Amino acid sequence: DLSQGISKEQEIAELDKKYYIHPTTVPKTFVEQGPKLVFAEGNGMNVKDVNGDTYIDGVSMLWNVNLGHGNQELAKAAYDQMTNIAYSSSFYGFSNERAVRLAEKIVSLAPGDLNAVYFTSGGSEANETAFKLARFYWSLKGQDKKRKIISVSNGYHGATSAAGTATGIDAFHSFAGSEDTNILNAKAHLTNCEAGDRNDPNYEGSIRDIIEKEGPENVAAVIVEPVQGAGGIHISPDGYLKAVRDLCDEHNVLLISDEVICGFGRTGKMFGVDNWDVVPDFMSLAKGITSGYTQLGGVLMSQEIRDTLVEYDKILGHGFTYSGHPTACAIGLKNLEILERDGLVQNAKNMEVEMKRGFEYLEDKHPHVTKTRALGLLAGFELQQDPSTNTPFDDSVGAAGIVDDECFKRNLILRTADFEKGVNILAIAPPLIVNKEDIDKIFNIIDEALTAFE
Ligand code: PLP
Repeated sequence: DLSQGISKEQEIAELDKKYYIHPTTVPKTFVEQGPKLVFAEGNGMNVKDVNGDTYIDGVSMLWNVNLGHGNQELAKAAYDQMTNIAYSSSFYGFSNERAVRLAEKIVSLAPGDLNAVYFTSGGSEANETAFKLARFYWSLKGQDKKRKIISVSNGYHGATSAAGTATGIDAFHSFAGSEDTNILNAKAHLTNCEAGDRNDPNYEGSIRDIIEKEGPENVAAVIVEPVQGAGGIHISPDGYLKAVRDLCDEHNVLLISDEVICGFGRTGKMFGVDNWDVVPDFMSLAKGITSGYTQLGGVLMSQEIRDTLVEYDKILGHGFTYSGHPTACAIGLKNLEILERDGLVQNAKNMEVEMKRGFEYLEDKHPHVTKTRALGLLAGFELQQDPSTNTPFDDSVGAAGIVDDECFKRNLILRTADFEKGVNILAIAPPLIVNKEDIDKIFNIIDEALTAFE
């Protein structure tokens, strides 16, 4: 209420604290402090808040706004579809052209024999669907006991019950009794899917251990991200995904690649697995599929799974109202058209080189910067008290949080990925439209922020 001398920002903050429960936010802090920033507008690499201050979006919001903000072509695709038909069902035999064409397009981009798509509203639903379809596939094959899903530590797969349990980050993994007991989290993450180091005091089992302990006849699928995002920008070491693929084949277990972040160019290839030429049985998709312009997710599946599924002669009891939403699919189609037309997957690969240059500079200049990494435009670095001895900062320091705040004060939005105790990680994942000048700007700000922290 401006007549009482309250700014719009203050007014929204008061209403927000009172009425809006935020996802993945500390509720107590939020109701004390209110929102950090209220977004109002976006254009390309930049967003503005309600006060008119401009920020560089260094993480594409939630690693999803891959074409950047304010894209008129995507908005027009949505408008054209909505004014044509706003919504139509894909249930009970109905269909729509946009969903069919988007499915065809995604299949044309996918590796191997990933030849059919099931649409969802987002990434959690995509993983939930992959888990259900994996179990259903085994049932159709007469193997009703194959129910367990194995995920790995530091993976993030969403927040619904099953996807949340698959998430190997404590806050999501066990949430007030919502766990799915058929989902098991291997602790030896992304380093070794085989035995792991049994002498390591933190060793709690590898994917192989769990398959062998549970019995392969009880295991439906393994899920991994080619590059772990929220869990800390952990890039699969060379050979890892191939080893997981071989392990799955050895035990007749399906492999799900969670490509919700990696998919559609983020890692400099169309899909994350393309970096290692591995073909999974399912791929979960979301985020970059529409560059975040609206909600859409999906599951790609192999020809074998598709062919088994379509022999089923009763109702497939799994569906979402917004599966194959025509507007979402129209945006998705336009988004993929632009991605290809403007060479943005290649741009992500080219900009990886610029990011690595930026990291070299930071590592030389700042004593706490270490473990820098980038695959395409999915990048991160760590802060340690003493990298030469691998000594972390004391948790009370909150190093990543401080540097993140210092960047924010300088109008750069990054994000911390510091769920693991004693680990301070900052993530950088700008829109795929980013150019060299933008990367320079981002690294200059990080440079200043690190100086302020030291
Ligand atoms: N999988 C991965 C790798 C993700 O990063 C996310 C979200 O960040 C999800 C799944 C869940 O997707 P959504 O939030 O759309 O449900």
